[in-house]
Amino acid sequence: MDRDHILLTPGPLTTTLQTKLAMLRDWGSWDGAFNAVTARVRKSLLAIVHGEDSHVVVPLQGSGTFSVEAAVATLVPRDGHVLVLDNGAYCKRAARLTSMMDRRCTVLPFADHEAVSPAAVRQALVNDSSITHVVLIHCETGAGVLNPLQEVAGLCAEHGRGLIIDAMSSFGAIPIDARSTRFDALIAASGKCLEGVPGMGFVFIRKAVLDACAGRSQSLAMDLHDQYVYMEKTGQWRFTPPTHVVVALAEAIAQFEAEGGQSARLARYTQNFRTLVDGMAALGFKPFLAPDIQAPIIVTFHAPAHPNYDFKRFYEAAKAHGFILYPGKLTQVETFRVGCIGAITAVEMEQAVHAVALALKDLGIPSGVPAGG
Ligand SMILES: *Cc1c(COP(=O)(O)O)cnc(C)c1O
Repeated sequence: MDRDHILLTPGPLTTTLQTKLAMLRDWGSWDGAFNAVTARVRKSLLAIVHGEDSHVVVPLQGSGTFSVEAAVATLVPRDGHVLVLDNGAYCKRAARLTSMMDRRCTVLPFADHEAVSPAAVRQALVNDSSITHVVLIHCETGAGVLNPLQEVAGLCAEHGRGLIIDAMSSFGAIPIDARSTRFDALIAASGKCLEGVPGMGFVFIRKAVLDACAGRSQSLAMDLHDQYVYMEKTGQWRFTPPTHVVVALAEAIAQFEAEGGQSARLARYTQNFRTLVDGMAALGFKPFLAPDIQAPIIVTFHAPAHPNYDFKRFYEAAKAHGFILYPGKLTQVETFRVGCIGAITAVEMEQAVHAVALALKDLGIPSGVPAGG
């Protein structure tokens, strides 16, 4: 059958037909009509974080990581010192790219089943005045933890350090308000909670730090300051834009606004999340995280203890019933992940739980109960 599977992955994710249809036209990158789409997208993105007065937004070609790397290279001086708050795989990736950009990098480690501790962050900032920037992953998609953005932003403001936020898997769903949360840069992408297709990221940069960013990046293609200056001057992207991705994002944002914006999206994802967790609990599955730090974005479940369980076979069985699951990203325990984001509702989540039940049956596994109960 040529019907698409439902993607329960945190990007790429299931998009609406309307968003897919937006990609059926070709656009010239110099054309005024396309430039107007870019301008509209940028304006809408700024409105989502209430950043019109304080920030600019700079789009960049590539997957989300390209924009994280670009943000670090553009924002942090070559002799800067970055503190990465690490409670998972995406934090480790941010630390790695920071070191590869030749910026001094210190990692403040936390367990992957814990949120970042503001008290530990405060101590680190007090202890080391050479730290110029802090990198926080808002929702650590590795396990699904929601980190305390407001508290960390407050500490960075209090101690006069720059804050770079990877809000890739939270932007558009979890509230972020630039009027009350101070950050130097915030990064997200087209193919996550805005429900566009993958292919571009965007970085909000605080106007107060923008001018100082000139010439910091050692990369031509990833220089967000240069991209910004060129875009302001010409209305165009510096290099070939992902035209189809941009028009799909414009369409996805129109649907986001029509749905009721961030609060409506959070309400739908929360309902997806509850339906998933309740349904999986009835099958015996246990979430990896405590509920108080779990974001309604992606859920990590312990693997069933039964000897027949093997993620690849489980994945193929769920796929045969129409749903694409996601492997776990933890090194210590055997897990798998299920995303709650995308153009899906509680109806699809009920069907997903049913598909998981059928997959267990196919594999001869009586329940999802993990090792140790
Ligand atoms: C998706 C995601 C990214 C970007 O990953 P890409 O594979 O480059 O798109 C970065 N950080 C977080 C927290 C994410 O969820």
